[in-house]
Amino acid sequence: MNEKLTVLIIEDEPAIAENLIHVLAMDGYCPQWVATAGEGLAFLKENAVALLVLDVGLPDGNGFELCKTIREFSDLPIIFLTARNEEIDRVVGLEIGADDYVTKPFSPREMLARIKLRIKSRTMTPALAALQPIPTKQLIADNFDYCVNDQKLGLTAVEFKILNKLISVSSNVLSREQLMIAADMAPEAAYERNVDTHIKAIRNKLKPFAMHQRIRTKRGFGYFYSLKGQS
Ligand code: CA
Repeated sequence: MNEKLTVLIIEDEPAIAENLIHVLAMDGYCPQWVATAGEGLAFLKENAVALLVLDVGLPDGNGFELCKTIREFSDLPIIFLTARNEEIDRVVGLEIGADDYVTKPFSPREMLARIKLRIKSRTMTPALAALQPIPTKQLIADNFDYCVNDQKLGLTAVEFKILNKLISVSSNVLSREQLMIAADMAPEAAYERNVDTHIKAIRNKLKPFAMHQRIRTKRGFGYFYSLKGQS
């Protein structure tokens, strides 16, 4: 946990870079400085970088173009630095994927505060994601069986056809007769109560995944498949 986070500065004015390097090092970061877009791009491709401070006017290109290139392979936080105090730059910068925008001259302390905020909000993301509702478990058809999280249910041919039919009509109720037809059940096996036996078997196979309540009974009519109120 004590590993220092690398902050890359791509800036061709040494005085500005030195100020930033100083405050970042004092605050426990590992600042790295390059003066050209080319060197910056090479560094980003080779190293783990927590945040990039990117000057717009560079000797070998402009920061906006470099930002677009970086966005093709990385979503690290990027703060633009520019000497030009124009609203158009700010809009362009944010539109092409920058996280923040600072106009020169700036206070290194304020810049540090912004850097910390951007790094913190980025590293917070996984924790926030954990608070989101768990995605609905999916039944995936695979080679005449269904899978949950890559685990096969082990359905028989008839069970597969019944479940497949129920899922295919989403929450519509199907009669036992409709399910027998869907499952190509032989006429002699076609006692309607046989369907109940197959439904019971399917529910048992869904039970380990806590999904058995997705097969609902509509009394007097038949069965339907429902995601409502289920995990
Ligand atoms: Ca510059």
